[in-house]
Amino acid sequence: MASVLDLPRQQLTPGMQQYQDVKREHPDCVVMLRMGDFYEMFYDDAVLAARELEITLTARGQGDKRAPLAGIPFHALENYLGRLIRKGYKVALVEQLEDPKKAKGLVKRGVTRIITPGTIIEQGLLTEKENNYLASVVAREGYALAVCDVSTGEFCTLMLENSIALHNEIARYHPSEIVIPESLQVNAELVSALKSFGLVNARADYFFSQDKAGEVLQQHFRTSLAALGLEKSENIAAAGGLLHYLLETQKNSLAHLQKITVQSRETMILDQSTLRNLELLRNREGDSKGTLLMVLDQTQTSGGGRLLRQWIKAPLLNVARIQERLQAVEELFGNVILSEELRDLLKQTHDLERLLARVHYGTANPKDLLVLKSTLEVLPKVVEKLQACRSNLLPSIARLDCLPELYRELQQALRADAPLTVREGGIFNAGYQPELDTLQQLSTNSQQYLQQLEQQERSKTGIAALKISYTNVFGYFIEVTKKNLSLVPAHYIRKQTTANGERYITPELKAEEEKILGAQERQAELEFQLFQQLLQKVMAPTPAIQDAAAKIAVLDVLLAFATVARQNRYVRPRFTDEKILSITRGRHPVVEQLQPQFVGNEVMLADGEMMIITGPNMSGKSTCMRQTALIVLLAQMGSFVPADSCTLGIVDRVFTRVGAYDDLSSGQSTFMVEMNETAAILNNATERSLVILDEIGRGTSTFDGVSIAWSVAEHIHNQIKAKTLFATHYHVLNKLAENFSRVKNYHVAVKEVNKEVVFLHRLVEGGTDASYGIHVAELAGLPSEVVTRAKEVLSVLEKDDEMVRRMKAKRLEVQKGLGEF
Ligand code: ATP
Repeated sequence: MASVLDLPRQQLTPGMQQYQDVKREHPDCVVMLRMGDFYEMFYDDAVLAARELEITLTARGQGDKRAPLAGIPFHALENYLGRLIRKGYKVALVEQLEDPKKAKGLVKRGVTRIITPGTIIEQGLLTEKENNYLASVVAREGYALAVCDVSTGEFCTLMLENSIALHNEIARYHPSEIVIPESLQVNAELVSALKSFGLVNARADYFFSQDKAGEVLQQHFRTSLAALGLEKSENIAAAGGLLHYLLETQKNSLAHLQKITVQSRETMILDQSTLRNLELLRNREGDSKGTLLMVLDQTQTSGGGRLLRQWIKAPLLNVARIQERLQAVEELFGNVILSEELRDLLKQTHDLERLLARVHYGTANPKDLLVLKSTLEVLPKVVEKLQACRSNLLPSIARLDCLPELYRELQQALRADAPLTVREGGIFNAGYQPELDTLQQLSTNSQQYLQQLEQQERSKTGIAALKISYTNVFGYFIEVTKKNLSLVPAHYIRKQTTANGERYITPELKAEEEKILGAQERQAELEFQLFQQLLQKVMAPTPAIQDAAAKIAVLDVLLAFATVARQNRYVRPRFTDEKILSITRGRHPVVEQLQPQFVGNEVMLADGEMMIITGPNMSGKSTCMRQTALIVLLAQMGSFVPADSCTLGIVDRVFTRVGAYDDLSSGQSTFMVEMNETAAILNNATERSLVILDEIGRGTSTFDGVSIAWSVAEHIHNQIKAKTLFATHYHVLNKLAENFSRVKNYHVAVKEVNKEVVFLHRLVEGGTDASYGIHVAELAGLPSEVVTRAKEVLSVLEKDDEMVRRMKAKRLEVQKGLGEF
C-alpha cells in the first residue's frame, strides 16, 4: 500500500492534502481525521486500522484520486483508541477547528492531541487502581530517570548510579512508554531492556539539553530550577525532555502537573527478581492472583489502590516514618466502628486525581462535575471523624481542605440530572444565571404558546385532529390528516405531503419557531460557556484538590492495612536499633489464605546470623523463607504482620535467590540466571540486609554446586554479615555450623507413621540427613516400578559406606531431579 507521503500533491483532493500535511508532521502516528460523525483514516493508516481493528476497508474518490479509507463512529472512539494503543501504536487526533456549517470551503482541522500508551487520560482505557507512567531516561554519569502519570498529575525525577539501579527503578514504575534522547539508542542493551516495558520513543538530544530542558521546566512551573529543587543537570535533562514530549503531544497547558519531586533514596530498593520471586504485585503468570497485593488490597478508592501499589514497591527505611504509619494503623485497628465508618465514606468518593486531569484537558463532562460535587460533600464527614484521632498521621489528614466554596458553587450550578455531554444543554439549575433563566422561560412560554396556537387553530378550522409537530429537518408545522384536507384554510402554506396527510406552515408559526430555535441555540451556547467557566473554577484550586486526593489515598491504605490486620490476626511489628530479626509463629500472608491449618514458624536471626534450612521437598522451606522476607517488607511498609510477634532492626534491602527457572527471553540458562542473581546479592548486600537463598548451585553438577553453595555461605557469613536464610538439599552444608559461630542448622520436621511420611511444616533446630526425595517422587506419581527400583538403588548405596561417600552427592542430585517432578 502506497503511503500518502509518497503521493504527489496535485494527485490529492484538498481533503487528502490536509491529511498528507498532518501525516508529514506525525509520520509515526495513526492519523484519525474527524469528518462529521466519523473519524476517518486513509491510505496505509486505513489498511492498518482495518487489520488491527477489524473494520471495513473502503475507498473514497475516483480514478487516481481514489484513497483507501476506514472509519469509526465518533462515539466509539475510546474503544478503538484503546485497541490501537494497547497494540503499541500512537494516534494523532485531528479535530474540526470550526463549525462545518459556518466554514467557507474546506473545514479547518488541526491535531488536538497525540495519544500514546504513556499519555492516556481516558477513563475507560486506564486501570482504576493502577498508575500509568510515562518515563524518560538520560545517561550521563549514572542515569537520570523522570516519571510522570498525566492522568493523576504525579511527576518526579531521580538519579541512579548505574544501569542495575536504573533497571530496578524502571521495574518499580513499570512505565508503558519511555522517551529517550536519540544518542542513547546506541546502547542497544539498554534500549532492548526498556522495550520490554513499553513503547520507546527517541527524541532529538536538543530537547534533553540543559538549556532547552531547563527552559521548558521553568516556563511550565513558572519558577527557577533551584526553587524546583532541580540541581543536577541530569535530572533537569530527564524531566525537561519528558515535559517537552508531553506538551508537544498533549497540546494542553498540563496545569495539573503542579510540582516535580526530586526523589532521594528514602525507600528500599526492590530489584526485579525480588519483585518477581516474592510475587508482590504479580505472580509468575503476570496477574495478581496469589500475590501480596491481593491480600492487602482492601482499599475502597482508586487513588488508594494506586498508592497501595506504590507503598508495596517502596518499603521505607526511616523508622520514624514507619512508626507514623504503624501508629495510625494501630489506632484504626483498635477502633472498628470508626474504621468501618471511614471505609463507608471513602466508598462514596471518586477518583479526584483523574477527574482533575480530565478537567484540565477540557474533556470533563457535567456528570464528572456532579461526581466531584458528591465527593466534596463527603470530605467534611471524613474530616469530622478523624478530628478526635490521636496518632500523628490521622489528624494531619484531617487538615485537608474540603473546598466548601467550590462545593457550594457546584451545588448551585448543576442539575442533579445533568447530562453526559456539554452540547445538549440541561446542565444548570434554575436561578444559577439570569440570562439562562430568561431563555429557559422563553422556551417554556413558547411551548405553552404553541399549545394555545394548536387549540386556536383547531377551533378556527374545525379540525379536531390538527396537530402542531416538530422535526429537525422541517422545524415546526401543522399536520392535517387526509380526511380533513377539505377544511384546511387558504392561508396555510403546504410544505410536504405524507402518507397520512399534509404538513403546513403559517407565518405566525414560523415567527414563533424562529424565536424558539434562536432561544435554544443561544441557551446551548450559553450553557457551554457557563460550563467552561465552571471548569475554570474547578481548576483554580488544583493544588488543594490534589492534596485532598493524596490525603484520602493515604487514609484509604491505612484503613486497608488495619482491616487486613484485623481479618487475618496480624500484629504490630516492633523496631529496634539492633540488627536482629525475631519472628514468633510467622505465617505466609498468601499461603495461609489457602491453607487454614497453616503452621506458624519461629525465625530468630541475631546480628550476622545465618540459618541453614534442610528438609524434604514440599516440607515448607521456601514458604518459610518467603514469609520471612514478606514480613520484613510488610513491617517496613507500615503494615502489621502475620505473626504472633515480630521485632526487627531496619533492613536496608531484601535479596532473594529463589527457585530456578529458565529466563528464555534473555537467552540465559537456569544456572546462569541463578549465578547472576547470586552475584548481584554478593556485590550489594550489607550487614543490614536480609538474604534469602533457596538452593544455590542446583543447576550444575553436584560437586560444583556444593562448592559454590559452601563458598557463597562462607562469604556472606565472614565478609558481608547479612542476616541469611539458606535452604538447601546439600546436607553437607550443615557442617558449616561446626566452623562458623553465627551459622545455625534448622530443618523442617517430618514424622514417619507406618512408613508414611507426614509433613509437619515445623521448623526445628538441628540438621538432618533424611531427604525423602523418593517419597515425594512417589507422591508425584512416578511409576511404582521406578520408585521400587529407586529404593533398591538407595539401599545399596547406603550400605556401601565407601560408595556412599563418593556417591552421596550423586544421590542427592538424583533426588533433586526427582523432586522437581
Ligand atoms: P521444595 O524443596 O520442593 O522446593 P519446599 O520445602 O520449599 O519444597 P514449599 O514449596 O515451601 O516446600 O511448600 C510446599 C507446600 O507445603 C506449600 O505449597 C504449602 O501448601 C505447604 N506448606 C508450606 N509451609 C506450610 C506451613 N507452614 N503450614 C502449612 N502448610 C505449609
